[in-house]
Amino acid sequence: MQRFIENHTNEHFDVIVIGGGISGASVAYEAATRGLKVALLEKNDFSWATSAATSKMIHGGLRYLVNGEIMLVRESLRERRVLENIAPNFVYPWPMMMTHYKTPFKNNKWLVKIGMLVYDALSYDKNFTWDACKKIPSHRTISKKKVMQTEPHVRPEGLTGASIFCDCISIFPERLTLAFIKSAVAYGAKVSNYTRVEGFLMGSENNVTGVKVRDLLNNKTCEVSGTITVNCGGPWADIVLGLAKSKGDGSSTLRRSEGIHIITAKHLLSGNYTVASMTPAGRHFFLIPWRNHTLIGTTDKPFTGNPDDYHVTKESIMELIDDINSSFSDGKLSYADVKHTYGGLRPLVEEDTSETYTSSRRYEIYDNQKDGLNGLITVEGGKYTTSRKLAENCLKIVASKMEKSLGQSVTDKQFLTGCEIKNLNAFLSDIQKENSDFGKSTMDYLGRNYGTEYAEIIKLARTDKALSETLNDDGEIMAEVIFAVREEMARTLADIVMRRTGIGTLGNPGENILRKVANAAAKELNWDENKIEKEISDTVKLLKLPV
Ligand SMILES: Cc1cc2nc3c(=O)[nH]c(=O)nc-3n(C[C@H](O)[C@H](O)[C@H](O)COP(=O)(O)OP(=O)(O)OC[C@H]3O[C@@H](n4cnc5c(N)ncnc54)[C@H](O)[C@@H]3O)c2cc1C
Repeated sequence: MQRFIENHTNEHFDVIVIGGGISGASVAYEAATRGLKVALLEKNDFSWATSAATSKMIHGGLRYLVNGEIMLVRESLRERRVLENIAPNFVYPWPMMMTHYKTPFKNNKWLVKIGMLVYDALSYDKNFTWDACKKIPSHRTISKKKVMQTEPHVRPEGLTGASIFCDCISIFPERLTLAFIKSAVAYGAKVSNYTRVEGFLMGSENNVTGVKVRDLLNNKTCEVSGTITVNCGGPWADIVLGLAKSKGDGSSTLRRSEGIHIITAKHLLSGNYTVASMTPAGRHFFLIPWRNHTLIGTTDKPFTGNPDDYHVTKESIMELIDDINSSFSDGKLSYADVKHTYGGLRPLVEEDTSETYTSSRRYEIYDNQKDGLNGLITVEGGKYTTSRKLAENCLKIVASKMEKSLGQSVTDKQFLTGCEIKNLNAFLSDIQKENSDFGKSTMDYLGRNYGTEYAEIIKLARTDKALSETLNDDGEIMAEVIFAVREEMARTLADIVMRRTGIGTLGNPGENILRKVANAAAKELNWDENKIEKEISDTVKLLKLPV
């Protein structure tokens, strides 16, 4: 992938997408598959913001049934199946254990049972998957005794049993977003990270005719013209919109809520289930077995500042730890047990709920013609799970605005780039056999996180022995670093260790590893000694826990 902005002259696009999270990536892919000329602009790295802050679940959203959001749950369950199909190496059925307690009432086993029956009914097509290994069974209920045998850290007081059901897990949401972007590029889309939209080009009668951008890697500005611009700015969507309105002061009007996660090396789970627990206040949180660690989250707290200033605070971590200690395990989880933390902001579309936790997770697509801005569409809210569908619906508005027939969507019918795998188990077993000179964990990691592109990493590692060096317990190797820079548009050390590889996503991997990775990237990106030191210190700062 090439950063098109470096060579951009005066090419005109049908669709300009602002934002390289999962919404922007999906819209760019959907538009490109319909034969449109697409440009995607991202001010930071692809999938660095909300799309990197998820609980890694691709799910129907059982709890939305409590709010009566049947259509949202059905759409999410359908999209869960679509993602299992089109991204088989990234999205897997995953068993969940929802514990039942005498109180609060929301956790009552009969109430949950009704919810489970509805959830099963709404996912009636869950097993119409392309790959037979993606089968999802219906729910079942287990006794308190069985819960304690299976997950001994579940709090026994007041426990009445648990429901076992399946949702899906996305092993690396940042790379899944990248797979959507690569798929868009395969259809001719032009994309560029570190490219900030700073204003709009206005034609006659307040027509939006493109955007003014700054390439943040060389500080040069330029204009990109387009027929339709789609604002997929996530928590920044209102600020982006503000650039087009006459005030243009970048002020924010969107409601946002913060959600954080912590990762601990403490073994709180058997590893066979994600456990859903509930705080005394009635809010669910999940304990997810992830890469031999426990990932715990999320929270839901109103955030009123500028999204550019957002970061996880120690206060938010302590609140989550208090919630965990009041309802799970021995109550002895402490700040010292936290290895890594991450957080993000949800843009909320609903005005009339006072609580951010009960606010709807549905998405909205606005034609800003209503605000007097013809040519601009703004997408807000939503879930990672439903982003492909959001894009499909967005293209209906694009088609009507362009007065063009754009045909039917094909994005639910074909594999994403790098994901062309019909039988995942056979694929993983074959690549192990064919590459027995590499470790088992390396081949498993590459097969799942790079899909069919694993072969390019192996080719690099075979050309230069130093690139087969293993960097962590997952079996990641140095060749991935080179691949990230040459083929996946990584431009900083953080891009490499946080979003192309998993080297930094369990916390700081240590000075030795960061330096090795930085030195390898330096050769590709012509970094001098000062730049190497800056990249290392920026990444260490990013990975430091808040104090
Ligand atoms: C804590 C938490 C947990 C979640 N867990 C789940 C889950 O388990 N499953 C699920 O389905 N959903 C989950 N979600 C929801 C999901 O993460 C979001 O719906 C999704 O990531 C939104 O993607 P997005 O592309 O709209 O936003 P983002 O990923 O935030 O992308 C917006 C992008 O726009 C860019 N941008 C902004 N302004 C400009 C500009 N001026 N120029 C260029 N680019 C710009 C930003 O840099 C950013 O990259 C969770 C959300 C949170 C906060």
